[in-house]
Amino acid sequence: MSRIRAAFWDPAGTRYGIPTYPWRMAPPHLLTRRQLTAEGLRPGGQGVQAQVLWRSRRHGAPGVRAAYLYDIRFALPKRTATTRQRAALDKANAARRTCPLCHIDAGYVLPRHLGVCLNCAEERAA
Ligand SMILES: [Zn+2]
Repeated sequence: MSRIRAAFWDPAGTRYGIPTYPWRMAPPHLLTRRQLTAEGLRPGGQGVQAQVLWRSRRHGAPGVRAAYLYDIRFALPKRTATTRQRAALDKANAARRTCPLCHIDAGYVLPRHLGVCLNCAEERAA
């Protein structure tokens, strides 16, 4: 790991107050608001869970930039709906929570970029 990456590596949040990762090194269950939106989700009631820090020369003066991350397990489906739409959505979401590998309802909508639950994704990466 480079010196700059190491400087931003703080998964326990002891230096920065919240868990902090260098660019592209955050765990797969932590997504930016934009990434959540791409998954059809919103942060829900949760606050910022972690951040990504990187050095940038763009946007004027060089400096440290931050992107805030939310935990996909606490995220909620986007959009508001009527009761009937809600029921259809609940059914659809139940399907979206069920992992095609282990066939378990993960309790959260499976990240589309993984296609499987976080446990299966971890096993696959190991
Ligand atoms: Zn699974």
